This record gives sequence, structure tokens and C-alpha cells, in this order.
Amino acid sequence: MSKETSIGERIGAETKRFLAKKNQLLFINGKFVPAKSGKTFDTINPATEEILGSVAEAGAEDVDEAVKAARKAFEAPTWSGINPHERARYLLKLADAIAANADTIAEIETLDTGVPLSINKANVIGNINVLQYYAGWCSKIYGKTNPSADDVFNYTRREPLGVCGQITPWNAPFNMVIWKIAPALACGNTVVLKPAENTPLSAIKIAELIQEVGFPEGVVNIIPGMGSVAGSAMTTHPDINKIAFTGSTNVGKGILSGSVDTLKKITLELGGKSPNIIFSDADLDKAITTAVNGFTLLSGQACIAGTRVFVQDNIYDEVVKRISQKVSELIVGDPFNSTTQLGPLISEKQFKQVSSYFDIGKKDGAKITVGGKRFGDKGYYVEPTVFTNVDNQMRIAKEEIFGPVGSIISFKDENDVIAQANNTPYGLAAGVWTKDISRGHRIAHAIKSGMVWINSYFDYDPISPFGGYKQSGMGREFGEESIDAYTQIKSIFLRY
Ligand code: NAP
Ligand code: MG
Repeated sequence: MSKETSIGERIGAETKRFLAKKNQLLFINGKFVPAKSGKTFDTINPATEEILGSVAEAGAEDVDEAVKAARKAFEAPTWSGINPHERARYLLKLADAIAANADTIAEIETLDTGVPLSINKANVIGNINVLQYYAGWCSKIYGKTNPSADDVFNYTRREPLGVCGQITPWNAPFNMVIWKIAPALACGNTVVLKPAENTPLSAIKIAELIQEVGFPEGVVNIIPGMGSVAGSAMTTHPDINKIAFTGSTNVGKGILSGSVDTLKKITLELGGKSPNIIFSDADLDKAITTAVNGFTLLSGQACIAGTRVFVQDNIYDEVVKRISQKVSELIVGDPFNSTTQLGPLISEKQFKQVSSYFDIGKKDGAKITVGGKRFGDKGYYVEPTVFTNVDNQMRIAKEEIFGPVGSIISFKDENDVIAQANNTPYGLAAGVWTKDISRGHRIAHAIKSGMVWINSYFDYDPISPFGGYKQSGMGREFGEESIDAYTQIKSIFLRY
């Protein structure tokens, strides 16, 4: 790890001002307010284990207050009465404000998540187009004129759902807030969003920008807090019309069952154990580099991480050697250093969970070729790790580890790898590497997952639906699909 410098030496003046607030507040009805209970919680820099500041902790009564504000804003002419072009302008103004504050947001995100600054800068800039894409949708949400009889006129309207509750995870906190609020607002909804307790800061910075660009009060409310308290109160709240959730499959299931009494619309983006398949005819240089990135990016804390690397048996030994070599060259360390590729895990809890899989894998008979230990002695770092001799039935190949850990599994032929790849309750993403483009498409069709990359990994774009098959989710974010997910259809008959 590099020579230590204090936080103050590596962040800009605006980030300093933000952190100097020390006590971050809830954003309800256009104002920053403390929790009604007065409760707060600390947020920690996982690279140093130091406290970054305290954050107001929303309770059920704050959720209620935020929902009231969002309902009032939803009904008010200042939001429901404006035309779609005006709604688009709000989204574009927020996009511009984010662009103007990109460095600050990236610095705040790096302090709160430990993700390397270079990655956060690219993420912030790269996700501005999500707001711009949805700004474009505001004026293109069409109903239909249906082919009714001559004495009847029947048409449909796509109307917003109302108040949308959004619950986001800690692994890409800025992206997740943008992915959630952009389509909801484009469709004319209002929002109550709870960021993850581990990473509330970038969401609070976005709230500042929402206030600055002048969104009507209550259109967006950001309420940091605990999932089991604020998140759960949102799930059962009678005046929230929809919950959009990203996080673990278990919590997603709880949200689905918790929302039954109020029959909310639900979309869930959940976990994965995605296969990345390398055939012997692949461009091995690209396949290997991308496969390593596939399970180490964000220190493996990505729902779409390619954690099961399937390698054809006739190149298995060579690929294991080359992947292990590449992993051993990864630069782990201070997330503020420009050369760092991997930062720490998000928390002590994740550190313990990921570390436990090193023993689990070994006990089940897999071999570690590189990594398998804590990295350094401060911060929640683990070494990027490769397991070989892995059987698809081992726990390391079945369970989501959510750390920089890849399992390399051998396969014989197309049929064998399709069967192995699909033998999982998850179905979020998959990669396939081959120069035989027909085979690439055959595999892409056969894999039961919401996204497949042929000769790439991690591509995403708001133009294209993002989400999972099986226990990786319900519904989709992005693309036209998210417009469906944030609107409901009304059919209107007029008799002449
Ligand atoms: P998590 O524990 O499921 O938390 C996600 C969010 O849900 C957090 O805001 C959390 O609040 C909240 N929450 C927790 N318990 C709740 C409850 N009972 N009711 C309502 N909300 C509740 O997941 P995580 O640990 O943050 O993230 C890791 C997992 O998310 C991994 O499994 C990963 O695969 C998945 N993930 C999926 C995607 C995707 O797009 N499919 C993206 C990112 C992550 P607290 O912060 O207070 O716990
Ligand atoms: Mg933190």
C-alpha cells in the first residue's frame, strides 16, 4: 500500500465542504432535516476504517413524512401539471449539475465505498447519459388509438404510478440512485429513495444538486436509514405505489412478500453467479483480460460479476496459468492512487464473508493458485483470488461470494457448458468467448439469463434492458421496459 497521506490532501474544496457538515441530514420535501427520533448512524471509509461522518437515520415516521411530501408533489400542478418538455428539462438540468460536480461526487463515492477514484470518475461521467436518455423519453410516452367501432372512440394513456419507493445497494451507489430516479421521474412519478446504510453519501450529494437545480419540493426525497426499519416501512407503506429494489435475493424476496397487503408494483434486481465461457477458438488475450476484470472489478462486488469462468478442457491448464498470472499483477491498494485497480471490500461484514469462502473452497477440494488471504493490515482488503479444479456443485461455484474471487471450471463441449452454466438458481448475466459467431449466438440463446455478452463483458447502456431471469430478479431497468415498469395503462372509451 502506498505512503499514507491524509484525506484532506487528495480531495477538492467542494468535497471538503461536504464532509465538513459532519452530520448529514434527510432530504424531505425539498429541505434537509434531522430524523424525527434524532437518531444518527456513522458511515465509514472502508479503506481506512475511519468514520467519515454521521448521517440522520430515517425511522418509520420519517418514511411517512417523505411519502406525504411525495404524494403532495405528485398531485401538485408544479409536477403533474407540467408538460413533458418541462419534465425533461429538470432531468437535463440535473444531468448538467452532475457533470459540473463529477469530481466531487467521485471523491465522495471513493471515500464511502473504497472503489478506486478512476473507476468512480468514469462511472459518474458514464452514467450522466442515463438521465439524458430518460429526459428524451418524457415526450415519447405514447398511448394508442385502438381500432374500435364507428360509434366508439377508444384510446389508452400511459400514466405514472404515483409515489415510487426505491431501495438501493452499496456496491455502485451513485449509479443505482441515477438508474432508479431517472425513469421514475421521466414518467411523472415522485420518489422516496433509501440508499444503503453503508454508502449514503453520494445520494445525499445528489439531493443537494436536486435542491440546487430547483425540482419542485417533494418530487425526490432521499432518506438514509436501515433496511430493516426504513426499508421495511417503505415496503408496507399504504401510500407507496411501487417498490424498485436492487440488492440481495433474500431481501428481495422479503420485499415481495412484505408488499402483498398493499399490492405494490415491484421490480427487483438481485444477485447472480454469472458464467463467463471461454472456448478454445477464442481470442485468448482478450478473453483472459476481460475474464479477470469480470470477477475483480469493484473488488468483485458487482451483481453481474463473471464469477464462474468456464474454460474448454483442451486449453484449461494454459488459461488457468494466464488468468492466475494476470490476477497476481493486479494493483490492490489506496483507492485514491491513479494506478490502483482494486480497493477494499465495503465493510467488515463483507470482509468476513468473503474470507470465509477461502476455507470453504479449499475444504471442498478446490485449489487456490493466487490470493486467498487478507491484503495489508488496515482496511477491509482481500487479495484477488483464483480457485481452480472447481466443480460447478461446490459452494464457491453456487453461492454469491461478492468479493474478487473467480472459480475456473472446465467443460467439454457446447452441450456440457450450457448445462453447467444454467445449473444455478440465478440468471443475471453471461459471457461467451468464441470466434465462431454462430456458436456465440447459439450459446447466447441457450443461456437462461437476462443479459449475454459475446466477446465482451460488462457492457451496459440505458438503451437496453437490464435485469435477471430466475432468482436474479423481476422486471427490468433501462430501455423501453422501464417505461412500462413506471407507468400504468388507462383505457378510455367515448361513445359518440
Ligand atoms: P441488501 O442487504 O439486500 O441491501 C440492499 C438494500 O436493501 C439496502 O439499502 C438495504 O438497507 C435494504 N434492505 C435490507 N433489508 C431490508 C428489508 N428488510 N426491507 C427493505 N429493505 C432492506 O444487499 P447489499 O448487501 O446492499 O448488496 C449486495 C447484494 O445485492 C448482492 O447479492 C448483489 O448481487 C446484489 N446486487 C444486485 C444488483 C442487480 O442489479 N441485480 C446490483 C447490485 C447489487 P441496509 O443498507 O440498511 O442493509
Ligand atoms: Mg461508507
